[in-house]
Amino acid sequence: MPNNQYPEFVPVEPNWNQNTVAVQAGRPARFAGAPMNTPVTLSSTYVHTTDLGYGRDGNQSWGALEEALGQLEGGIATTFSSGLAAATAIADLIVPGGTLLVPTGAYYGVKNIFERLEMHKRLNVRLIDLGNTDATIEALEGADAIWMESIANPTLVVADIPAIVNEAKKLNILTIVDSTFATPLRQRPLDFGADIVLQSVTKFLGGHSDLLLGAVICKSNAHAEFMVKHRHDFGAIPGGFDAFLALRGLRTLAVRLDRSETNALELAKRLKSHPKIKKVNYPALPGDSQHEKATKVLPNGCGGMLSFEIDTTPERTDQILESLKVITHATSLGGVESLIERRTRYEAEREAGVPMTLCRFSVGIENVEDLWSDLESAISMVLG
Ligand SMILES: *Cc1c(COP(=O)(O)O)cnc(C)c1O
Repeated sequence: MPNNQYPEFVPVEPNWNQNTVAVQAGRPARFAGAPMNTPVTLSSTYVHTTDLGYGRDGNQSWGALEEALGQLEGGIATTFSSGLAAATAIADLIVPGGTLLVPTGAYYGVKNIFERLEMHKRLNVRLIDLGNTDATIEALEGADAIWMESIANPTLVVADIPAIVNEAKKLNILTIVDSTFATPLRQRPLDFGADIVLQSVTKFLGGHSDLLLGAVICKSNAHAEFMVKHRHDFGAIPGGFDAFLALRGLRTLAVRLDRSETNALELAKRLKSHPKIKKVNYPALPGDSQHEKATKVLPNGCGGMLSFEIDTTPERTDQILESLKVITHATSLGGVESLIERRTRYEAEREAGVPMTLCRFSVGIENVEDLWSDLESAISMVLG
């Protein structure tokens, strides 16, 4: 019995739909009196002698979440205290002095980790334009690893992961995908041949803005063992209760995502024809610059994130966001409640060239008409 698992899990049948896997995986095996949910384990130490000696070694609550995430992504999951802790562990896989390709438009938190590591001469960062498949493939020569983020935060750029991975494999380059925006229900990078997937479980997987947690899902045992050892040695462990809550959130991912996505597509269409909106980014929207790639890589939908530019000043944009009543003016994303923010409030996003009035909109599961009238009235109140 692996030491961090509740004696045994319900077997996941290979013919199950992903939506069923999200509901069933990581539950205790069914025997008379077995609980429906893996109990929360809140313990820093364990009675000798087992493999599970101390709280950094493992935990049943992480084990249940990891079983579910591994089944959903088609790999072996290791959870960490946050998405960035997970990204830090992945970065440590890169050979000392190695070259890492990073998209200019990657989430600025992960870019910051790589820049810090570069400052300490741990690795070299080379920026790439990941949305441009040909340019990305050309940039592969001489690299040791490539970091892909797709769908990208906050530009909603889509990467042709299968095409890029295919070329990277020929050159023995480690391929990593931050798949937070797409979730395993819309994109499974390991099926495209990628080595490693990052999920900020904080976002759609947890889904309720009540925890921070990250996961690394690996195809190979060697990489998965590295992750477990890294977590043990560096100590970025999730809390037992947070892992329980994340798995509880994951149970409803399929219905939450479906609703967010339906709302997002409808709002994207309406925003696109609004006279005060300059540009809408949503890959599922026909006519979007990413639409063609999205139909190939994300055939089942593009999730609940969109972004748009308002035809006004950054100050007025902030006034609009502050006037909203249903949608909350706040950072983060992926919860049942709608959140919005102007991303260039952060220096790193200004430096990355994000347009000054670009609003990143995490579309929740509220009634779509309430969301639309909230947006419409805030825009007309400020801009007339
Ligand atoms: C939020 C986010 C992260 C970082 O995850 P945390 O859980 O906040 O540490 C990484 N990548 C993307 C795309 C994100 O949105």
